[in-house]
Amino acid sequence: MATPELFTDPAPWQARCLAAREAGARLALVPTMGFLHEGHLSLMREARRRADEGGRRGLAVATIFVNPTQFGPSEDLSRYPRDLAGDLAKCAAAGIDWVLAPERPELVFAPGHETWVTVERASQGLCGASRPGHFRGVATVVAKLFNLTRPHVAIFGEKDWQQLAVIRAMVRDLAFGLEIAGMPIVREGDGLALSSRNAYLSPGERARALALSRSLAEAREAAAAGVRDAAELRARARARLEAADARVDYVEIVHPETLAPVDVAAPGSVMLLAAFVGTTRLIDNGRLP
Ligand code: AMP
Repeated sequence: MATPELFTDPAPWQARCLAAREAGARLALVPTMGFLHEGHLSLMREARRRADEGGRRGLAVATIFVNPTQFGPSEDLSRYPRDLAGDLAKCAAAGIDWVLAPERPELVFAPGHETWVTVERASQGLCGASRPGHFRGVATVVAKLFNLTRPHVAIFGEKDWQQLAVIRAMVRDLAFGLEIAGMPIVREGDGLALSSRNAYLSPGERARALALSRSLAEAREAAAAGVRDAAELRARARARLEAADARVDYVEIVHPETLAPVDVAAPGSVMLLAAFVGTTRLIDNGRLP
């Protein structure tokens, strides 16, 4: 459980990652915004496993960067929770070898940065509708992290289902030549999806936030019992969220890959939710049976 080697400047990180790759190491990357929880750590343990595939010890690496370009002007960039010392200890326990935590955002996005990656279709609707520019910021930083790291595989959480679709589309369309792995949502014992933003919730809000995972569970039960009409399933979820005094941003049922809304929930369709509990915007999703 050695402490990971910390890089605060992307330039030496890029040189060392490239040298390791050229020396034959297999690189597995986990990009994060830090304030790590078990969800992130499940991705990191997977990175460790995948880096070591083939019997030779590879390099499991993670990035911790609160990316300003994916936050809107009225969003929580300045108060986003941070704990680098705690994060490094957690990375160590999860088997991460190296961590890039850029000291200043300008080390990643220098003044005058003018190149952006826009994934057109997958960024539309859902979180893309309520967070204009968000996925452009995500795709651009992830593209840059891929170029800085040149990983063989990068691991993301299904918690951010649309983000995963955006990144898969980008990697396919721009031929990044790496594998994208998606990992299941890690939840608290009572069902709440782990999120760094849960730290914002008061105890009362924490209890109300359970409406997200509960409405997904109810939709799964209803679908299993034969309710297939997407409008009906969405209305029930919306009512459950509103009963908990959550302000609904969206409730959608979509095709798992294209993210196109469906009228009839088919096995594998995904229900996606976003709602504000107090001032905290939470998201969750789950496949329907
Ligand atoms: P973030 O730090 O919020 O940018 O998240 C970094 C990565 O962790 C993303 O790929 C997320 O999808 C993933 N992640 C966040 N929360 C969870 C969770 N509860 N379960 C699994 N993965 C998660």
